[in-house]
Amino acid sequence: MTAVFAQNALLDTGWARNLRMQIKDGRISTLTQDTTPQAGDSCVDTLLPALSNLHSHAFQRAMAGMTEYRLAGRDSFWTWRDLMYRFIAHLNPDQVQAIAALVYLEMQEAGYAAVGEFHYLHHQPDGQPYDHLAELSDRIMAAAVETGIGLTHLPVLYSYAGVGEHPLEQGQKRFGNDVDRFCALVDQARAAATNLPGDCRVGIAPHSLRATSPRDLAEVLQAQGQGPIHIHIAEQPKEVAEVQAGLGARPVEWLLANAPVDANWCLIHATHMTGAETQAMARSGAVAGLCPVTEANLGDGPFNGPAYLAADGAFGVGSDSNVLISLTEELRTLEYSQRLRDLSRNVLVAGEGSVGQSLYSKAALGGAQALARDAGQITPGNLADLVAIDSQHPSLCTLRPDQLLDGLVFAAKDHVVTDLWSAGRHQVQSGRHVQRDRIIASYRNAMRTLLAAL
Ligand code: ZN
Repeated sequence: MTAVFAQNALLDTGWARNLRMQIKDGRISTLTQDTTPQAGDSCVDTLLPALSNLHSHAFQRAMAGMTEYRLAGRDSFWTWRDLMYRFIAHLNPDQVQAIAALVYLEMQEAGYAAVGEFHYLHHQPDGQPYDHLAELSDRIMAAAVETGIGLTHLPVLYSYAGVGEHPLEQGQKRFGNDVDRFCALVDQARAAATNLPGDCRVGIAPHSLRATSPRDLAEVLQAQGQGPIHIHIAEQPKEVAEVQAGLGARPVEWLLANAPVDANWCLIHATHMTGAETQAMARSGAVAGLCPVTEANLGDGPFNGPAYLAADGAFGVGSDSNVLISLTEELRTLEYSQRLRDLSRNVLVAGEGSVGQSLYSKAALGGAQALARDAGQITPGNLADLVAIDSQHPSLCTLRPDQLLDGLVFAAKDHVVTDLWSAGRHQVQSGRHVQRDRIIASYRNAMRTLLAAL
C-alpha cells in the first residue's frame, strides 16, 4: 500500500483540500479529505486524474521535423505518407522499441498515464513475417514495461491499398495481413499481454475503411471484437470521396449503418462529418478520437465540435504522429481550431462554465473509455492514473482552484507536471521520468544507426 497526499485534488465531486489517498494493487483504495500527511507519503501540490492518450503511432516520433519542407506542388498529406514509407523500410525491432520507450516517457512527463498504441508495423521490411508473428507487438509491450505507462495495445488490420480491395503497395507490405493471420497475431499479443501489469489491454484496430473490406471487417469483429475497437474514419476529404464512391456512403455514415458501433468503439479523426453524421455518432456512444496537433500539422481540418458537444458526444485526445507530445498543446489546439473557424471564443463548453475544466474532464473520461481503463476520475476503485501539477508555478500561481484547469490548458506548458502515476506506478517524480537518462541514451543510440541506414 502506498499513499499520496495532495494539498488540492480534483475529485469526481469537485475540488478537495488536504486529501490523502491510499493506493492498493494499482487502484485508488481510500480517499480522506481535510487530513494531514503521514510519514512516507508522496506529497504533491495539486492532484488531477491523468489523461489517457488514445491514439499513437509511436515509431512516427522519429520522423518529427523531417516533413516540414515544401516541395513545389507537392505539400500534401500524401507526400508525408511517402516519407513515412521510406522511413519504415529500415526500422528494426530494437529501434521500434527504443522509439516507443522515448515516446511513452515523453507522454508520461506531459501528464498522460496511458496510451492507445494503434500498431500497424508488423512484419520485416520486405513484408515477410518475423519468425514470431507478433515480434513488434512484443517490442511495444517491452517499451510499455520499461516506462511503466498503461498500455492498450491495438494491433491493426491492414489488408488493402484502397477501397475495392486494391493490393498493397511495396511501402505497405510491413503492415499487411489477411483476417486469418491477423487473428493469429492478435492471439499472440493477447498471450503476451498476460505477462504485463493487469491494466494492460489488447483490442483491435481495423486501419480504415480504405484498408479493409466490408466482408473482412465483419469477420474480424466476429472473431476478435470483444475489446476496444479503433478505426481511422474520416481524416481527409479525399478519403471521404473514395469511401463514398466505393461503398456508396460517407465513412461515418457507412460505419454506423454497417457495424455494431457502440461505447467500445473509438473513431479516430472523425473530422469530416455532416450534421446528421455528427448527431448519429454522438448517439452511438463511441468516442471521437481527436488528434488536434497532428490534424493541424497535416492540414486535416477542424472537428465539428459545438454540434457534437451539444449532442453530448464523448471524445478524447491522442498524439497520433507524435510530431509534438504535449497534453496542454493538444487540448488548446482543439479549442483554438474551433475559435479560428467560428471567429468566436470559449467554444468547447456546453452551456456555460470553464472551458479548461470541460475539455480536461471530458477528455479524461473519453480517453479512459476508449482504452477500456477504469480511469478518468479520482474515485475509489478506479485505477490510480494520476498527475500532479504545481499550482505555484509562475504560469499558474495567480489562479484560484476553479481557474486552474483554464490555466493549465491555455496558459501553461507541460513542465508544470511534477508527478505522474500510471495505475499506481510512480513513473514521473520532480518532473522527470525515473528512467529518463537510460531511455534517452538508448533512443539516441538507436537513431544513430537508423539515420546511417536511411
Ligand atoms: Zn493515426
